[in-house]
Amino acid sequence: MKTIGLLGGMSWESTVGYYRGINEGVKNRLGGLHSAKIAMYSVDFEPIEKLQHAGDWKATARILSGAARSVEAAGADFLLICTNTMHKVAPEIEKSVKIPLLHIADATAEVLIHEGIKTVGLLGTAFTMEQDFYKGRLSKNYGLDVLVPSVEDRQIIHKIIYQELCLGKIQADSKTEYLRIIDMLANQGAEAVILACTEIGMLVSQGDTKVKLLDTTAIHTEKAVEYAI
Ligand code: GLU
Repeated sequence: MKTIGLLGGMSWESTVGYYRGINEGVKNRLGGLHSAKIAMYSVDFEPIEKLQHAGDWKATARILSGAARSVEAAGADFLLICTNTMHKVAPEIEKSVKIPLLHIADATAEVLIHEGIKTVGLLGTAFTMEQDFYKGRLSKNYGLDVLVPSVEDRQIIHKIIYQELCLGKIQADSKTEYLRIIDMLANQGAEAVILACTEIGMLVSQGDTKVKLLDTTAIHTEKAVEYAI
Protein backbone atom coordinates (compact mmCIF):
# COMPACT_ATOMS: atom_id res chain seq x y z
CA MET A 1 0.00 0.00 0.00
CA LYS A 2 1.30 3.45 -0.96
CA THR A 3 1.50 6.32 1.54
CA ILE A 4 -1.05 9.07 0.75
CA GLY A 5 0.17 12.66 1.10
CA LEU A 6 -2.47 15.21 2.10
CA LEU A 7 -2.32 19.01 2.11
CA GLY A 8 -5.14 19.71 4.55
CA GLY A 9 -6.62 22.41 6.73
CA MET A 10 -8.45 24.29 3.96
CA SER A 11 -10.63 24.09 5.88
CA TRP A 12 -9.94 21.48 8.55
CA GLU A 13 -13.69 20.83 8.63
CA SER A 14 -13.42 19.19 5.21
CA THR A 15 -10.05 17.55 5.90
CA VAL A 16 -11.84 15.51 8.58
CA GLY A 17 -13.94 14.10 5.71
CA TYR A 18 -10.78 13.19 3.75
CA TYR A 19 -9.24 11.41 6.75
CA ARG A 20 -12.43 9.46 7.44
CA GLY A 21 -13.23 8.75 3.77
CA ILE A 22 -9.74 7.45 2.96
CA ASN A 23 -9.60 5.22 6.04
CA GLU A 24 -13.10 3.86 5.38
CA GLY A 25 -12.15 3.15 1.76
CA VAL A 26 -9.06 1.17 2.81
CA LYS A 27 -11.03 -0.71 5.49
CA ASN A 28 -13.78 -1.60 2.97
CA ARG A 29 -11.24 -2.98 0.52
CA LEU A 30 -8.73 -4.70 2.81
CA GLY A 31 -10.88 -5.49 5.88
CA GLY A 32 -9.67 -6.32 9.37
CA LEU A 33 -7.65 -3.62 11.08
CA HIS A 34 -6.28 -2.21 7.85
CA SER A 35 -6.10 1.57 7.70
CA ALA A 36 -4.57 4.09 5.33
CA LYS A 37 -0.92 5.16 5.42
CA ILE A 38 -1.18 8.94 5.45
CA ALA A 39 1.33 11.78 5.74
CA MET A 40 -0.56 15.04 6.24
CA TYR A 41 0.44 18.69 6.53
CA SER A 42 -2.49 20.69 7.85
CA VAL A 43 -2.02 24.44 7.35
CA ASP A 44 -3.36 27.43 9.27
CA PHE A 45 -6.17 28.52 6.92
CA GLU A 46 -6.66 32.14 8.13
CA PRO A 47 -3.54 33.63 6.44
CA ILE A 48 -4.19 31.61 3.29
CA GLU A 49 -7.79 32.84 3.04
CA LYS A 50 -6.54 36.44 3.46
CA LEU A 51 -4.01 35.96 0.64
CA GLN A 52 -6.67 34.39 -1.65
CA HIS A 53 -9.00 37.36 -1.24
CA ALA A 54 -6.08 39.81 -1.69
CA GLY A 55 -5.23 38.01 -4.95
CA ASP A 56 -1.73 37.07 -3.75
CA TRP A 57 -1.75 33.54 -5.16
CA LYS A 58 2.05 33.50 -5.45
CA ALA A 59 2.32 33.69 -1.66
CA THR A 60 -0.22 30.87 -1.25
CA ALA A 61 1.80 28.79 -3.74
CA ARG A 62 4.95 29.32 -1.66
CA ILE A 63 3.21 28.17 1.56
CA LEU A 64 1.66 25.11 -0.07
CA SER A 65 4.83 24.16 -1.96
CA GLY A 66 6.73 24.14 1.35
CA ALA A 67 4.00 22.00 2.91
CA ALA A 68 4.11 19.61 -0.08
CA ARG A 69 7.88 19.20 0.32
CA SER A 70 7.34 18.31 4.01
CA VAL A 71 4.76 15.70 3.04
CA GLU A 72 7.15 14.25 0.47
CA ALA A 73 9.98 14.17 3.02
CA ALA A 74 7.63 12.38 5.44
CA GLY A 75 7.40 9.51 2.96
CA ALA A 76 4.29 10.24 0.86
CA ASP A 77 4.20 8.44 -2.50
CA PHE A 78 1.68 10.83 -4.04
CA LEU A 79 -0.14 14.03 -3.14
CA LEU A 80 -3.70 15.32 -2.76
CA ILE A 81 -4.58 18.99 -2.24
CA CYS A 82 -7.71 18.72 -0.05
CA THR A 83 -9.49 21.73 -1.57
CA ASN A 84 -10.74 22.57 -5.05
CA THR A 85 -9.85 26.26 -4.84
CA MET A 86 -6.17 25.79 -4.07
CA HIS A 87 -5.78 23.78 -7.26
CA LYS A 88 -5.36 27.26 -8.73
CA VAL A 89 -1.72 26.88 -7.68
CA ALA A 90 -1.49 23.15 -8.45
CA PRO A 91 1.13 23.70 -11.23
CA GLU A 92 3.50 25.46 -8.78
CA ILE A 93 2.96 22.80 -6.10
CA GLU A 94 3.53 20.01 -8.64
CA LYS A 95 6.82 21.59 -9.70
CA SER A 96 8.08 21.73 -6.11
CA VAL A 97 7.97 17.94 -5.52
CA LYS A 98 8.89 14.74 -7.37
CA ILE A 99 5.81 12.75 -6.29
CA PRO A 100 2.69 12.86 -8.52
CA LEU A 101 -0.37 14.98 -7.75
CA LEU A 102 -3.88 13.52 -8.09
CA HIS A 103 -5.81 16.55 -9.42
CA ILE A 104 -9.34 16.85 -8.01
CA ALA A 105 -10.85 18.16 -11.29
CA ASP A 106 -9.36 15.27 -13.29
CA ALA A 107 -10.74 12.70 -10.83
CA THR A 108 -14.17 14.37 -11.09
CA ALA A 109 -14.08 14.63 -14.90
CA GLU A 110 -13.26 10.91 -15.14
CA VAL A 111 -16.46 10.10 -13.21
CA LEU A 112 -18.51 12.42 -15.47
CA ILE A 113 -17.10 10.84 -18.63
CA HIS A 114 -17.69 7.33 -17.24
CA GLU A 115 -21.33 8.22 -16.52
CA GLY A 116 -21.84 9.78 -19.95
CA ILE A 117 -22.63 13.25 -18.54
CA LYS A 118 -21.88 16.11 -20.93
CA THR A 119 -23.53 19.18 -19.37
CA VAL A 120 -22.75 19.78 -15.72
CA GLY A 121 -23.43 22.47 -13.11
CA LEU A 122 -20.56 23.72 -10.95
CA LEU A 123 -20.81 24.94 -7.34
CA GLY A 124 -17.76 26.13 -5.44
CA THR A 125 -15.99 29.28 -4.36
CA ALA A 126 -16.12 32.23 -6.79
CA PHE A 127 -12.51 31.37 -7.71
CA THR A 128 -13.52 27.84 -8.70
CA MET A 129 -16.75 28.82 -10.50
CA GLU A 130 -15.23 31.71 -12.44
CA GLN A 131 -11.61 30.94 -13.24
CA ASP A 132 -9.96 28.84 -15.90
CA PHE A 133 -7.92 26.57 -13.60
CA TYR A 134 -11.08 24.57 -12.82
CA LYS A 135 -13.97 25.43 -15.13
CA GLY A 136 -11.58 25.72 -18.09
CA ARG A 137 -9.87 22.42 -17.26
CA LEU A 138 -13.24 20.62 -17.38
CA SER A 139 -14.29 22.18 -20.68
CA LYS A 140 -10.94 22.27 -22.52
CA ASN A 141 -9.47 18.94 -21.37
CA TYR A 142 -12.69 16.91 -21.20
CA GLY A 143 -15.14 18.65 -23.58
CA LEU A 144 -17.71 19.22 -20.84
CA ASP A 145 -20.29 22.02 -20.95
CA VAL A 146 -20.02 23.70 -17.56
CA LEU A 147 -22.91 25.81 -16.22
CA VAL A 148 -22.42 28.17 -13.28
CA PRO A 149 -25.04 30.13 -11.28
CA SER A 150 -25.78 33.84 -11.86
CA VAL A 151 -23.38 36.40 -10.37
CA GLU A 152 -25.75 37.02 -7.41
CA ASP A 153 -26.07 33.31 -6.68
CA ARG A 154 -22.30 32.83 -7.00
CA GLN A 155 -21.88 35.43 -4.26
CA ILE A 156 -24.37 33.58 -2.03
CA ILE A 157 -22.56 30.26 -2.58
CA HIS A 158 -19.13 31.84 -1.93
CA LYS A 159 -20.21 33.67 1.24
CA ILE A 160 -21.79 30.56 2.77
CA ILE A 161 -18.58 28.58 2.15
CA TYR A 162 -16.26 31.05 3.92
CA GLN A 163 -18.59 32.45 6.58
CA GLU A 164 -20.37 29.23 7.55
CA LEU A 165 -19.13 25.89 6.19
CA CYS A 166 -15.41 26.50 6.78
CA LEU A 167 -16.35 27.36 10.38
CA GLY A 168 -18.45 24.23 10.78
CA LYS A 169 -21.78 26.14 10.76
CA ILE A 170 -24.63 24.25 9.10
CA GLN A 171 -27.74 26.42 8.62
CA ALA A 172 -31.14 25.37 7.28
CA ASP A 173 -31.68 28.62 5.30
CA SER A 174 -28.31 28.16 3.56
CA LYS A 175 -29.24 24.61 2.62
CA THR A 176 -32.51 25.93 1.11
CA GLU A 177 -30.50 28.44 -0.96
CA TYR A 178 -28.09 25.77 -2.22
CA LEU A 179 -30.98 23.46 -3.18
CA ARG A 180 -32.72 26.33 -5.01
CA ILE A 181 -29.53 27.03 -7.00
CA ILE A 182 -28.99 23.31 -7.74
CA ASP A 183 -32.58 23.11 -9.12
CA MET A 184 -31.96 26.20 -11.23
CA LEU A 185 -28.84 24.64 -12.80
CA ALA A 186 -30.80 21.44 -13.54
CA ASN A 187 -33.59 23.50 -15.16
CA GLN A 188 -30.94 25.15 -17.35
CA GLY A 189 -29.86 21.73 -18.61
CA ALA A 190 -27.31 20.41 -16.12
CA GLU A 191 -27.48 16.60 -16.03
CA ALA A 192 -25.58 16.65 -12.71
CA VAL A 193 -24.11 19.23 -10.35
CA ILE A 194 -20.51 19.09 -9.07
CA LEU A 195 -20.07 20.03 -5.40
CA ALA A 196 -16.68 21.52 -6.23
CA CYS A 197 -15.88 22.71 -2.75
CA THR A 198 -14.83 20.14 -0.21
CA GLU A 199 -17.20 21.51 2.49
CA ILE A 200 -20.48 21.52 0.49
CA GLY A 201 -21.14 17.85 1.27
CA MET A 202 -21.53 18.90 4.92
CA LEU A 203 -24.59 20.98 3.89
CA VAL A 204 -26.30 19.09 1.05
CA SER A 205 -26.28 15.45 0.09
CA GLN A 206 -27.89 13.20 -2.50
CA GLY A 207 -30.87 12.46 -0.25
CA ASP A 208 -31.89 16.16 -0.40
CA THR A 209 -32.48 16.37 -4.16
CA LYS A 210 -33.40 14.41 -7.28
CA VAL A 211 -30.61 16.19 -9.19
CA LYS A 212 -27.52 14.00 -9.46
CA LEU A 213 -24.74 15.37 -7.23
CA LEU A 214 -21.03 14.70 -7.56
CA ASP A 215 -19.22 15.35 -4.28
CA THR A 216 -15.56 16.13 -5.01
CA THR A 217 -14.44 15.10 -1.49
CA ALA A 218 -15.90 11.62 -1.98
CA ILE A 219 -14.54 11.33 -5.54
CA HIS A 220 -11.05 12.53 -4.55
CA THR A 221 -10.80 10.22 -1.51
CA GLU A 222 -12.02 7.24 -3.56
CA LYS A 223 -9.40 7.97 -6.24
CA ALA A 224 -6.68 8.18 -3.56
CA VAL A 225 -7.68 4.81 -2.08
CA GLU A 226 -7.71 3.19 -5.54
CA TYR A 227 -4.26 4.63 -6.30
CA ALA A 228 -2.82 3.66 -2.92
CA ILE A 229 -3.86 0.00 -3.04
N1 GLU B 1 -12.42 23.78 0.66
C1 GLU B 1 -12.92 24.69 -0.29
C2 GLU B 1 -12.71 24.20 -1.71
O1 GLU B 1 -12.77 23.02 -1.95
C3 GLU B 1 -12.79 26.15 -0.06
C4 GLU B 1 -11.76 26.63 0.90
C5 GLU B 1 -10.54 27.08 0.14
O2 GLU B 1 -10.50 28.23 -0.28
O3 GLU B 1 -9.62 26.28 -0.04
O4 GLU B 1 -12.56 24.97 -2.63
